[in-house]
Amino acid sequence: MRGKESGINVDAIARARIEILFSRAVRVFPENPALGARYISLGRKIALRHAIRLGKMRELYCKNCNSPRIPGVTAKYRATGGQFLSVSCLVCGETNRRKLGERREKGAKTPVKKP
Ligand SMILES: [Zn+2]
Repeated sequence: MRGKESGINVDAIARARIEILFSRAVRVFPENPALGARYISLGRKIALRHAIRLGKMRELYCKNCNSPRIPGVTAKYRATGGQFLSVSCLVCGETNRRKLGERREKGAKTPVKKP
């Protein structure tokens, strides 16, 4: 591994760069949507190159057009069917749906069922 040889944690630097790019994308998007999408795509490329799993950060952008998800501005969040969360991109129209309560931590209590 490159990082271990030089004593520098390359993955940590890459992760920090991704976080910077993502937060900057949100800030710059209202004025310059193309630049915001560019920051997201750069962040995704860095993650790909360093095999970094984005985890929760994956929900911060649209997979289709790379625009940052800003609730009410570029993204619409709706609970559908009582058990799904659907996230629509207001830039390209892409909709993603995931089951609610799916990403529970291990050992967490099961969600209370409706009567
Ligand atoms: Zn989109």
